[in-house]
Amino acid sequence: MFDNLSDKLDRAFKVLKGQGSITEINVAETMKEVRKALLDADVNYKTAKAFTDTVKEKALGMNVLTSVSPGQLMIKITNDELTALMGGQTEELELKQNPTIILIAGLNGAGKTTFSGKLANYLKTKKGKKPLLIAGDVYRPAAIEQLKVLGEQIDVPVFADLNSKDPIGIAQAGIAQAKQNGNNVIIIDTAGRLAIDEQMMNEIAAVKASTNPHEILFVVDSMTGQDAVNTAKAFNNRLDFTGAVLTKLDGDTRGGAALSIKSVVNKPIKFIGTGEKMDAIDVFYPDRMASRILG
Ligand code: GDP
Repeated sequence: MFDNLSDKLDRAFKVLKGQGSITEINVAETMKEVRKALLDADVNYKTAKAFTDTVKEKALGMNVLTSVSPGQLMIKITNDELTALMGGQTEELELKQNPTIILIAGLNGAGKTTFSGKLANYLKTKKGKKPLLIAGDVYRPAAIEQLKVLGEQIDVPVFADLNSKDPIGIAQAGIAQAKQNGNNVIIIDTAGRLAIDEQMMNEIAAVKASTNPHEILFVVDSMTGQDAVNTAKAFNNRLDFTGAVLTKLDGDTRGGAALSIKSVVNKPIKFIGTGEKMDAIDVFYPDRMASRILG
């Protein structure tokens, strides 16, 4: 994960690591390299600049120049700031309501349907919940079929209506069935588009208004870098989502989305997807991710 970024950061800090004492110029040069590494990883420009300015300021404030091991101290400060940049703390799902309604949003191909299945599996096996999945992608019968297959795999019921083109009606009927059957978590998969589209936004905003979800999770493909952040902004403006989900972190992704989303839209990343299988889901831990990036 983020191998390229890790390598570049490692190289950026190498100069400092071996030295007993360093100068302000060394710090400035290292931070320039760090900024370059972040930009190459597709981190938002403003985010990268603010990040390196903060690390530099903190390092000088903590007397890094006279510290016994300046390299280690710089890495520690960078690690703490990377953690803060990704939200600091892990943000758990709000699951107190019975039933808890979770709306899943995002563009086509982001991994919504796969994530819906993974989340249901996670809540069932790790949190002892009894979920119901609702197949709300009325434009793609294949997506409904896909969710049904996943539901069977993980042994979670799926509510679907192949004859209906009304996502609100489907969501309402699914919620009614969940209440009848005692499902305490309802996950609503929704239709996406290839790109941001007014009709899609209107539709999902209408589903939100009619179902009053406790969580709205915006699913985004981490491979899409800066686009991921722009898409997040557009969805957040319209839906005010409660958390982001970064998928495909098992691929050759550069890291920009993970590092920029929180600072750009001020919403936490709650989960990551690390594969196509139903157990390839992890709660997002900013501190673990930071340590991983710094190697
Ligand atoms: P949707 O259109 O947003 O519902 O996207 P899908 O759930 O159909 O996913 C699109 C493709 O991405 C499928 O081939 C999934 O198997 C794949 N996919 C989803 N999540 C992940 C992930 O975390 N890692 C990998 N490698 N593939 C994923």
